[in-house]
Amino acid sequence: MVSVSRDTAGDASLDVVVVGAGFAGLYLLHRLRSLGFSVRVYEAASGVGGTWYWNRYPGARCDVESVDYSYSFSPELEQEWTWTERYAAQPEILAYLEHVADRFDLRRDIQFDTRITSCHFDETTDRWTLLTDGGERVVAPYCVMATGCLSTTKLPRVPGVESFAGPTFHTGQWPHEPVDFSGQRVGVIGTGSSAIQSIPHLARQAAQLVIFQRTPNFSVPAWNHPLDPDYVAEVKAAYPERRELCRQSQAGFPIEGTPGSASTATEEERAAQFGAKWQEGGLRFLGAFGDLLIDPAANEAASEFLRTKIRERVEDPAIAALLSPTDYPCGTKRLCVDTGYYETFNRDNVTLVDLRRSPIEAITPTGVVTTEATYEFDALVFATGFDAMTGTLANIDIRGTDDLPLIEKWHDGPRSYLGLAASGFPNLFFITGPGSPSVLSNMVVSIEQHVDWIADCLDHLRRTGLGRIEATPEAEEQWVDLVAQLAGLSLFEKANSWYIGANVEGKPRVFMPYLGGVNTYRAQCDEIAANGYQGFSLREGAHRVEARVR
Ligand code: FAD
Ligand code: NAP
Repeated sequence: MVSVSRDTAGDASLDVVVVGAGFAGLYLLHRLRSLGFSVRVYEAASGVGGTWYWNRYPGARCDVESVDYSYSFSPELEQEWTWTERYAAQPEILAYLEHVADRFDLRRDIQFDTRITSCHFDETTDRWTLLTDGGERVVAPYCVMATGCLSTTKLPRVPGVESFAGPTFHTGQWPHEPVDFSGQRVGVIGTGSSAIQSIPHLARQAAQLVIFQRTPNFSVPAWNHPLDPDYVAEVKAAYPERRELCRQSQAGFPIEGTPGSASTATEEERAAQFGAKWQEGGLRFLGAFGDLLIDPAANEAASEFLRTKIRERVEDPAIAALLSPTDYPCGTKRLCVDTGYYETFNRDNVTLVDLRRSPIEAITPTGVVTTEATYEFDALVFATGFDAMTGTLANIDIRGTDDLPLIEKWHDGPRSYLGLAASGFPNLFFITGPGSPSVLSNMVVSIEQHVDWIADCLDHLRRTGLGRIEATPEAEEQWVDLVAQLAGLSLFEKANSWYIGANVEGKPRVFMPYLGGVNTYRAQCDEIAANGYQGFSLREGAHRVEARVR
């Protein structure tokens, strides 16, 4: 446990405050510390890990292959850590992040069990003042929000949602101790990625499992398996090239070459390619052709292929039809990666309730009431997702120049420059913020790129004696337009996804991630930095950050 004073307002030695200790916050702390900055991280959880600290539901695992869903910044770390499965389960990913925290001695600068509640910019000192839920005040010239895109859970807006008398669980806030559903009647609300991973496990334990589905999702098998030591050795031997492939790819995966077009392929070629990608498993399916997320006909061919697979996996044709999405293009809601999800519906103890036919009217102390039936449960699982990308930032009272609240600036949708910064909010950075590739990529690749860019930027400011950086309104405007234009060229706006804010009532319908690809995005960020941080206004600040060796 790091020892800190109750009030660090007078601590002139603090250069950067970081909020969050997941993949992003941990690497940022390491990187900035190595550059001699004084950094402190504040984390609401009792430990490191972020997503992998909170999402402990049965079946939780990554959907990007473990050997790629990991840091590239340390060749020693790459060599000493050995992933055991193609897609590591949550305990293994958490153990990895705990290992990183220990190996790089990070915990001494992290204050756990501390939530940042507000973050205000003082124009007379060019510093940010943050308040914690414990009443501490923290002041620093720079602040970085490493608060995560999927870190604020969401309950359904249903009458009586808090009234259930038995135990309730949200997949994104799962207990630390094992939960035993043996012999119980369990209800699950939601059929997104978290539900699709947990349902097969819950079905094996519970006496009865009832799944409440509003929108079916497309899912591809993970074909998860233990990693062969020879394969791991091969990956480790070629890590530098593999990581570079990820950085130079569209989505952060080590894929060589450009996929062809489904619209110009023959039916046989399409079937062969979809079949091959299905056999590879997981998110690679969407890389079958380059136009799947642009061309409606190409997408429909892929969607129909996936629906055929659902029909093959589910015995009852009526259930298969309910599980088959028909009203949005595959991939425009996050493609799911499963192990035995569809087969779970062949079990006698599993029931699927179609909420489109009979919506939930209320949750009561004993169960769930739909317009057609009443279901009694011993336990209820909410797999109802997150207020993604902006929800966690909105929960912090962030105010920039002229006391402008970030939520007011973002009232009609998030506005940022590069997803890294916002005009009116000097010296504040977001990691994988809205307007960056973030959730459409292998997040670790995007996180490392953002951390490196911010660290280089702060180093540049220190070396040049400048202390204040702010995105210009013009650059921000152009970037917001570009993000919207790219979204408009794609099929993404056709789905009611969390990418577009559709899962949160009242949230503006704006597609939030940048669709140009991590490769193009990286080149743009690098060019902007090389051109003296084009689109940012830089000037001397009212403070000076000195170089220090730690
Ligand atoms: P997080 O891991 O979300 O960490 C943010 C931290 O900030 C949290 O610990 C939170 O407690 C803390 N925090 C937030 N607000 C405050 C505050 N006000 N005060 C103090 N602390 C605060 N991405 C992939 O690329 N591949 C995957 O396979 C993948 N699988 C996923 C599986 C699940 C179940 C989920 C939910 C997400 C998955 N993601 C995946 C996305 C995942 O969120 C990122 O890959 C990555 O872990 C994000 O790291 P982060 O550090 O940016 O944010
Ligand atoms: P999600 O994809 O947003 O799914 C939430 C589910 O709850 C949806 O099926 C949604 O239905 C349903 N729901 C929400 N409110 C409801 C209501 N009032 N009534 C009925 N149903 C309701 O959330 P998630 O499954 O937690 O996944 C979020 C993201 O985290 C994923 O997209 C992915 O990026 C990441 N993740 C990754 C993995 C992985 O495989 N590594 C696993 C879990 C999560 P509607 O679709 O109709 O809104």
